[in-house]
Amino acid sequence: MSSLWLDAQSVQVPDQGPFPAGSDWDTVVVGAGLTGLTTAVLLARAGQRVVVIEARQVGAVATGNTTGKVSLLQGTNLSAVRSSRSDEILQAYVDGNREAQSWLLRYLEDRGVEYQRRPAYTYAHFSDSIGTLEEELEACQAAGVKAEWAEVDELPYPIAGAVRLADQAQIQPTAVLQSLATEVLDRGGLIFEQTRLVGAASGPPVAIETTAGNLTSGSLVLATGTPVLDRGAHFARMQGLRSYAQAFTLPSGMTPPQGMYLGVDAPGRSLRSAPIAGDELLVVGGNGHEVGRAASPAEAVRDLEAWTHRHFPGAQRTHAWSAQDYRPADGVPYFGLLPGGGGSMFVATGFNKWGMTNGVAAALAITSQILGGHMPWATTLTERSPSVSGLTTSLKDNASIGARMTRDWAKAELGTLPEEAPDEGQGEVGRLGGQPVGSSTVGGVTRRVSAVCPHLGGVLTWNDAECSWDCPLHASRFAPDGEVLEGPAISNLDPQ
Ligand SMILES: Cc1cc2nc3c(=O)[nH]c(=O)nc-3n(C[C@H](O)[C@H](O)[C@H](O)COP(=O)(O)OP(=O)(O)OC[C@H]3O[C@@H](n4cnc5c(N)ncnc54)[C@H](O)[C@@H]3O)c2cc1C
Repeated sequence: MSSLWLDAQSVQVPDQGPFPAGSDWDTVVVGAGLTGLTTAVLLARAGQRVVVIEARQVGAVATGNTTGKVSLLQGTNLSAVRSSRSDEILQAYVDGNREAQSWLLRYLEDRGVEYQRRPAYTYAHFSDSIGTLEEELEACQAAGVKAEWAEVDELPYPIAGAVRLADQAQIQPTAVLQSLATEVLDRGGLIFEQTRLVGAASGPPVAIETTAGNLTSGSLVLATGTPVLDRGAHFARMQGLRSYAQAFTLPSGMTPPQGMYLGVDAPGRSLRSAPIAGDELLVVGGNGHEVGRAASPAEAVRDLEAWTHRHFPGAQRTHAWSAQDYRPADGVPYFGLLPGGGGSMFVATGFNKWGMTNGVAAALAITSQILGGHMPWATTLTERSPSVSGLTTSLKDNASIGARMTRDWAKAELGTLPEEAPDEGQGEVGRLGGQPVGSSTVGGVTRRVSAVCPHLGGVLTWNDAECSWDCPLHASRFAPDGEVLEGPAISNLDPQ
């Protein structure tokens, strides 16, 4: 499953020569998504010597698989932040997102990268959900976001109401990443793909261990989606949420809706148009769930396509993909100094599917901390104390995780792994020698790997949409051969 964006334009990074093992840098940035590359650009512009290390390829994880809306109207996010926190924190959140949105759009204009200005809509299918829209509108008004009630006549199904924010934007995320990567390199930075961070000791200087060799640096920035290294235990305060997106061509005479839409009630759908190579495609998203906890991700893919065919007759699917992002307990991202990082390690996470602005906000805040600047909104967000509702949600999440661990180990120890190979595209977990083992068949090859997540011991489940082993505890994912794909884990599954 490849995204429309990565298929249209994969990000090219020229060969960087041998990895400079043993060298010292001002800052090492880990992760080449939007957050990491924006951080690297900002630091390189300030004259820092920067190296970016990326476990896979630029954009391979969330940023290359996003839906790419750059919006201050974010579904029901503002009312969620307001109800779990305060008007002060909501204002800081909006200020940070506004500054990030302006930075990104100015950057794209300066660099000649195309994007489209579009209104954003949060809409309700059913009149029961109008109250939810009212709350969102009130939160917008409280934070100075000029949203308003709107009539919508371009959706091919009835809705009960919508809130609109004019003049937001949509991007082609890999075009943005290409521009950022090029600027990092032009300013003397280095980007190493296929290079994974596996350890770090706080400094100064920070001692950094990667799969390609060791480095030292004044600062280390973890822009890895969910933080690796576990120092701040962020994984215990966030849920990994996977969701699905598809792109469609429409029959001639039919154009995709021109606004960017997000529904608040079932089936929660995300819609936007995507001008790619002279064509204008429809992008539809939805059917999200917690990572590793859906009975059949493949069914989520089928359902999304069937829904689109019902409402856009004649639509032809060109791409289907999925991705995950991390929801913090109080809805507000975590960025800034990493607890236990000795004052020189930084983290950026918890963007709750709004990282096109929050990732850039995190980059602005972290670089300002490294370079000695001051951003009042960033200080308010980074210094917030845990909220009562956030703590309750974390406790509930962790109780559910504990129950899940016990149940999964018991289940795995009860069932013996069948001798027969699973069907093509399928995987199953069973006991072999007392340990949970996963067996899968993909591309005609049957492989057995440990089904215990090397992060914190969760028993993995099979993802039949993407042929991966997914951890229901903290959202790490692995390929059929055990290679780690994403999440807080940093090592592969052992072959069995
Ligand atoms: C389906 C979906 C739709 C979305 N739509 C929107 C949207 O419309 N608007 C919006 O604002 N947001 C959206 N988001 C959220 C947004 O895409 C993300 O928040 C954002 O892309 C996160 O960027 P990032 O750079 O922090 O993380 P990523 O893009 O995930 O980059 C992190 C990088 O770190 C690398 N990495 C991880 N571990 C290591 C390691 N140990 N060593 C080296 N490298 C490592 C990874 O390989 C990865 O490339 C969406 C998210 C999803 C899942």
